[in-house]
Amino acid sequence: MKIEIIKCLEDNFSYLLINEKNSDACVVDPGESKPVLKFIDDNKINLKYILNTHHHGDHIGGNNILKNKFNAKILASENDRERIPEIDIFLRDGQIWKDDIFEFKVISVPGHTMGHICFYFFNEKIVFTGDTLFSLGCGRVFEGSHKDMFNSLLKLKSLPPVTKIYFGHEYTLNNSIFCSKFDEYNSKLDRKIIDIKKKLNNGLPTVPTSIKDELDCNIFLRAKNLKEFSKLRDLKDNF
Ligand code: ZN
Ligand code: FE
Repeated sequence: MKIEIIKCLEDNFSYLLINEKNSDACVVDPGESKPVLKFIDDNKINLKYILNTHHHGDHIGGNNILKNKFNAKILASENDRERIPEIDIFLRDGQIWKDDIFEFKVISVPGHTMGHICFYFFNEKIVFTGDTLFSLGCGRVFEGSHKDMFNSLLKLKSLPPVTKIYFGHEYTLNNSIFCSKFDEYNSKLDRKIIDIKKKLNNGLPTVPTSIKDELDCNIFLRAKNLKEFSKLRDLKDNF
């Protein structure tokens, strides 16, 4: 399985997962259709599935056009039944979904929205975290409680450390400023920031990161308890 990073809108990441044997593909969170269509046309791939982490417009904006053009099926949380139009396959927490080489486990992560899910491709050890876990940050808590978000992040923290994380937005540089302000003497964070700046200066995305890197460097994952997490989330909301 090959992963293509497709930049959408201002700072969104969409991803195309391609079965290299037959060029079948899934797209994760197409915020808009145009850049995805361009890649599909240039590379002659068959779009079969659209995977949505949550219902926000910048993650589903391309759904309709892509679905109609390729007759692709939309997969999303059953909890987003009323909020994501035209879902074909409803997903439940903990469910394993499989088609050909695409095989993932659904991890429900309420907090940013109540229907938010992550797609964990356990064979490849890759997780798509949408707006729940970013590199050096986490999503704003819009619908759930801080406790919901804290528990959702605990679920992600328990994935194997080698797991690669593909997240929803290029917020990494800004997140790094917050992390270094409140986690001053973390040499692993310092090293990560050097690496991040190198990538950005070369016009490269900071995606993917890994569970290990985030456990070492992401202040929201380093929070020892709900109280500490909650305080950090409040500080970040006003940063
Ligand atoms: Zn969102
Ligand atoms: Fe978003």
